[in-house]
Amino acid sequence: VTAVEIPVTGKGRGLSGSSRALPAEEIEIRFGHGLLAEESATWPPYLVATSPSAYRAALPHLATPAAAVIYVESLDSKTLRAAIETAACQWKLVVGLGGGMAVDAAKYFAAFSDVPLVQVPTIVSTGAIVHGYCGSYEGRRLVGDRDRWAWADCEHVLLDYELVLQAPPHLNTAGLGDVLCEYSGIAEWRSRNHQTHAGRTELAEIVQLEAFHRSIISAFPRTLDPQGALTEASICLIAESLQARDAHRVSLPCAPNADHAFLLALEQANDRSWIHGEAVALGALIVSWHCDEAPTQLASDLDTCQVRWCPGQLSISKEQLWNGISLLTKQLRDAPDAHEHASLLHRRPLTANRFEQLWSFLNQDADPESRG
Ligand SMILES: [Zn+2]
Repeated sequence: VTAVEIPVTGKGRGLSGSSRALPAEEIEIRFGHGLLAEESATWPPYLVATSPSAYRAALPHLATPAAAVIYVESLDSKTLRAAIETAACQWKLVVGLGGGMAVDAAKYFAAFSDVPLVQVPTIVSTGAIVHGYCGSYEGRRLVGDRDRWAWADCEHVLLDYELVLQAPPHLNTAGLGDVLCEYSGIAEWRSRNHQTHAGRTELAEIVQLEAFHRSIISAFPRTLDPQGALTEASICLIAESLQARDAHRVSLPCAPNADHAFLLALEQANDRSWIHGEAVALGALIVSWHCDEAPTQLASDLDTCQVRWCPGQLSISKEQLWNGISLLTKQLRDAPDAHEHASLLHRRPLTANRFEQLWSFLNQDADPESRG
């Protein structure tokens, strides 16, 4: 690495120990118009972690182009390390510009070169935009626990409406999928307890999470313009929901969230990526269907929030879904210490027969108008 003077900054970072990262609610998000143009004029030479489409969209807003550009195609640790080691330039700032993969890689690059980080998400599709940690991957396999992961608290997150509202709407509403997917824990908990044996504390945790979800589901439609398109208020609501999410998280042993494990297994089994917030929403729907805890309601709530979940829309074939679920079943079985081990998907794995029923449920009312 040829960088690096270390500017004075109050923010932490490191190649391990990511549990020290700031909680999401303490991250500053700056919302506004023309923010990128204004702020990039003050940046020192910077390295950008991005994708070709995000960088192209952002270029007209950047006061100066980046000193070095890394197009992030994978979060595999060795790939990231090779990319930053061969970046031949001087930089004093790392900018994450794009979706979840770009902002996650930017954390690693900032930690590796020990310089400050500014996050400029071009979509609000995942909680990664307000988290300091970035998971460590071998290929598509998440490895180690949070204390082994790299992290970098950003100076702030910059959400420039001009940039974010340019993106296909579903990439933004996917962010609400990454929030509402936590319904999977509620479904698991309810299917075990049916409210009868639960202590008051447990019930209170579940109820507050449900209330959080309901408040988002009722607020979202009011942020849309008369044609049903996203507005600045929608972007704000999505980003703020992602930020508020962690504080509402339920961590009961009986309320595991297998939705994220589903996404990882799906991607690993099929060796391709899907949109994070959409795939975890589908994961939550599968859990709630399997637990028989209001899956139709969840589907309709996701529709209300314009979160895509239908396999057809996500381009997930029947075979790919089966591959993902089969691998998930195996992974849940083999990880007795994981929180998700308590999932009904482990205790009563989906049989081939039951998978057929699931597939018809997921495709039953595919409405081309609302799901197109
Ligand atoms: Zn997530």
